[in-house]
Amino acid sequence: MAQVEAIKAYKDNYIWALQGSDNKLVVVDPGLAEPVLDYLQAQGKTLAAILITHHHWDHTTGVAALKLAYPEITVYGPKNSPFTDVDVALSDGDTITELGYEFQVRATPGHTLDHICYIGAGLVFSGDTLFSGGCGRLFEGSAEQMWQSMQVFRDLDDNTQVYCTHEYTLANMQFAAASQPHNEAVLSYQHQVEAKRAQDIITLPSTIGLEKRINPFLRADAIPLGAIPPQFRPQDDEPVAKFAALRTWKDNF
Ligand code: ZN
Ligand code: FE
Repeated sequence: MAQVEAIKAYKDNYIWALQGSDNKLVVVDPGLAEPVLDYLQAQGKTLAAILITHHHWDHTTGVAALKLAYPEITVYGPKNSPFTDVDVALSDGDTITELGYEFQVRATPGHTLDHICYIGAGLVFSGDTLFSGGCGRLFEGSAEQMWQSMQVFRDLDDNTQVYCTHEYTLANMQFAAASQPHNEAVLSYQHQVEAKRAQDIITLPSTIGLEKRINPFLRADAIPLGAIPPQFRPQDDEPVAKFAALRTWKDNF
């Protein structure tokens, strides 16, 4: 299993540091350079590559300074993206190899149109698409696109570890409980998360198996229409309609 550590940035961002042999590491979504440079220095490591999931500033602002400090690195990011400071532009189905690990690239539009996820080494770097207990807001894409993106995660092995970019789990579990009042797995996980956050303990990584049991957006098709408040409730018992309704409800929660 790959070794991954969290570097904190901003209020609730995690810059994931994937550890390789010979003191090299790969970072994902460096929204800031300073905490990454500090981490590298403290650990006596060098940077091999950067993976970018989407163009938002809180995922990309550190790239320029990290490239200046480590000119040899490879920056990977999505093709057709407003963020263009990449060495290798990736599309759905591409594979990349770094530190001896192979990652498959999957397009997961919805939060943004350029969003990609990196799947390999027993984990997924899910950016702002799949959060623990939630999903990203629909800034650019449609509910239909995001629901399609959810299927990418549902197809992964249950043991796959989920490394998303934000510590949103506590608020997500409040909504998960409101939308799934009879889901025992949600209530017990909510208590675990509350205990962890009360002690400022990270709630990640999650696993695909856990998310399939608790995440209302990943299991929108399993949520009964009656669980959705009347002002958000769709006419039809269709997965996409329920997903869209849950997303709108959460935006107003
Ligand atoms: Zn974002
Ligand atoms: Fe973000």
